[in-house]
Amino acid sequence: MLRPQTIQKKDERTLGIVWDDEHESVYDTTYLRENCTCAACRDEWTGEKKALPGSLPKAVHPLTIDSVGQYGLKIVWNDGHRTGIYTFEDLRKLCQCSSCRSLVPAVP
Ligand SMILES: [Zn+2]
Ligand SMILES: [Zn+2]
Repeated sequence: MLRPQTIQKKDERTLGIVWDDEHESVYDTTYLRENCTCAACRDEWTGEKKALPGSLPKAVHPLTIDSVGQYGLKIVWNDGHRTGIYTFEDLRKLCQCSSCRSLVPAVP
């Protein structure tokens, strides 16, 4: 499994990850928040997102980012959300760069 080499808060709204394979991902933090996979944000059965694009405050950003074991990151958000865990696998799938987006079909 791919793991981050470095995780960097580029600014309040941008998170950068450089992976083991030298690939660099740059995330808009609002996008990460919208794609949280925790039970509160996603319907367990349908996988449907509850935190819909546009339903979040524009200024949503991470307060803290901590690694969880060897498999992911726990992000505490300034909108009070603190149960979201992003596995490295999910994070890599969420990469927004043009080469990744052409490989993986966008999630509706
Ligand atoms: Zn969540
Ligand atoms: Zn990428």
